[in-house]
Amino acid sequence: MPRRTKIIATLGPATDNPKVMDELIGAGVDVVRLNLSHGSHEEHEQRAETIRDRARASGRQIGVLIDLQGPKIRIGRFRQGPVTLREGERFILDAECPLGGGDQQRVGLTFPGLVDDVRRADTLILADGAIVLWVEEVEGSEVRCLVKIGGELSDSKGINKQGGGLSAPALTEKDREDIRFAAGIKADYLAVSFVRAAEDVHEARRLLREAGGCGGIVSKIERAEALDCIDGIIEASEAIMIARGDLGVEVGDAELPAIQKGLIKRARQMNKVAITATQMMESMINSPIPTRAEVFDVANAVLDGTDAVMLSAESAAGRYPVKAVEAMARVCTEAEKQEAARKSHHRLDSVFGRIDEAIAMATMYTANHLGVAAIAALTESGSTPKWMSRISSGIPIYALTNHVSTRRKVTLFRGVYPISFDVTGMNSQQANEEVIDELLRRNAVRNGDLVIITKGDLNGVQGGTNVMKILRVGEHILPKGI
Ligand code: PGA
Ligand code: MN
Repeated sequence: MPRRTKIIATLGPATDNPKVMDELIGAGVDVVRLNLSHGSHEEHEQRAETIRDRARASGRQIGVLIDLQGPKIRIGRFRQGPVTLREGERFILDAECPLGGGDQQRVGLTFPGLVDDVRRADTLILADGAIVLWVEEVEGSEVRCLVKIGGELSDSKGINKQGGGLSAPALTEKDREDIRFAAGIKADYLAVSFVRAAEDVHEARRLLREAGGCGGIVSKIERAEALDCIDGIIEASEAIMIARGDLGVEVGDAELPAIQKGLIKRARQMNKVAITATQMMESMINSPIPTRAEVFDVANAVLDGTDAVMLSAESAAGRYPVKAVEAMARVCTEAEKQEAARKSHHRLDSVFGRIDEAIAMATMYTANHLGVAAIAALTESGSTPKWMSRISSGIPIYALTNHVSTRRKVTLFRGVYPISFDVTGMNSQQANEEVIDELLRRNAVRNGDLVIITKGDLNGVQGGTNVMKILRVGEHILPKGI
């Protein structure tokens, strides 16, 4: 049984070598992430080119996800290296301090608007929680703070406000340029950081389409206020990423497990895709094996129903990028063997909005109850296999399509595997036979197995799926004239 949960690996200096990329592909990477918080367009373009080249050489399909930096607020830099803040001392975040002019008393800010967004008694969290500041007063350009948790503070560390409420818009000038870059390299997905509401998602998609990009939008859920309008955000997106790093800082780490479970469930109910991200194998930045806690985290995300698990620094800048992918693959595959990962509820109480959705649901109900070996969806846009994969199951769903953009898009969907397939010129009977031949060639089915094929009457029409065909391999070739 092929692994169902998809693995996203962030590319970076640690993977900048065609041999390492080959090993990542061999270890089972499905999608690569290019993190535009670091590096130049040239570097990222090179990475996208190399991975696609290596994927082609190995006959695999790899999706490319561009992750925008977004309005991550950071402190400036220090004149004489890192400073040490001690509990009970005072420290000033100063919008008028030059970005390179920090010292033991104060430091600059990349987002001067922070001054208007905070007031006395707010808590500011720096460096992902390593340092905590309590706001005593805001005066002119200065946010005067009392150090609650001290430690070493170095250049350009991130700032979050506990509880959320920072006014920075989701798309910065840099993000707008980076969206054009994403369109230029034909990214399959564009991840938007610090989404506040559905409008941010629509705006990102509009900019991407204007620039000629056709990728899906991934909304990174990492702001407290996003949770208040989450249905609108999910509806507006193709996928969501549970960005546990920043989200955990804004809402509190202890809240994360329940939020993760709820977000994955909601996304699937709404026919959307969910990615679980950040610190999944964090210790593997420096260690060749994960901790037990990390093994459980990845396995639990699989049981929660995530489509994909993601590696950040572990693969981009760690010492063991390939081992990290191997560890994830191993843990996902074992977790998927558990009954709970395959049990489905069939949406028995839901009303279907579309014919292709009804066919997808009927297929899953039948497949799970009849003992079908494989599902083959002839698809244009990938919607039908996506609906199918929202229903938990252990049955592989093959997405057969002539469109390379669709084959790359489905790399993110749990339990869906892309196959290049052109039905042009085939009649319905020929198409069935060719599909089953293709599955036989891949050892996906054997003689006597049941297979379900879904398709439309007309080739090349999106949303046209209206047929569910059940065939038994070996008996599927009808005598001529029937
Ligand atoms: P980042 O997003 O890695 O771009 O910060 C993920 C997160 O915040 O968890
Ligand atoms: Mn983040």
